[in-house]
Amino acid sequence: MSTAQDIVHNGSCLCGAISFKLEGKPLFSIYCHCTQCQRADGAAFVSSMHFPNSAFTWTHSPTSKPDIEDLGGMTLYRCPKCRSCAACQFGAPGSDANWTIRGSHLARDPESGRILDWDTVKPTGHIFYGTRLVDVADDLPKWEGFSNRSERLG
Ligand SMILES: [Zn+2]
Ligand SMILES: [Zn+2]
Repeated sequence: MSTAQDIVHNGSCLCGAISFKLEGKPLFSIYCHCTQCQRADGAAFVSSMHFPNSAFTWTHSPTSKPDIEDLGGMTLYRCPKCRSCAACQFGAPGSDANWTIRGSHLARDPESGRILDWDTVKPTGHIFYGTRLVDVADDLPKWEGFSNRSERLG
C-alpha cells in the first residue's frame, strides 16, 4: 500500500517542454474563483494546489529553462515555447517559498484523460466564490473570499 509520502504527481506546461514532479500530498487544494485567476488563466475558476518547496522538483532536461517572471512576492515560471505558466512560487525566484500548481497541469491517464491519483490532490472547497462566473453544484464549502476568513456562501 502506498502512503501519502509515496504519492508522486508529475506535471508539465501545455507543450511538455517544462515539467516538474510533486512528492506527497498538497498543503491544501482549493478551487479559486478570484478575478486574478479568471484573468490570468482565461477560465471561470481554477484548481489551485499548494505544496511546500521540499515537495517540488523540476524534471525537464537541463537544456530547457522556464522563463522567470518576478512579480515581487510571486514568481511565475513560464514555458519559453508554449508560454503557459507551469508553476508559481510565493516568493522570490529560487527561494524556499511554497509552490502553487494548477491541477490542470498534472499528468493524466492517456485513455480516460483524468488526472492520475486525483483523490490525493482534489480541492476541498471554493474560495472567492463571490466573484464566480458560474454556479457550482457540489457539496464543498464555498467562501465569499478566503476560506474561514470570509462569509460562507454555501
Ligand atoms: Zn510548453
Ligand atoms: Zn485566484
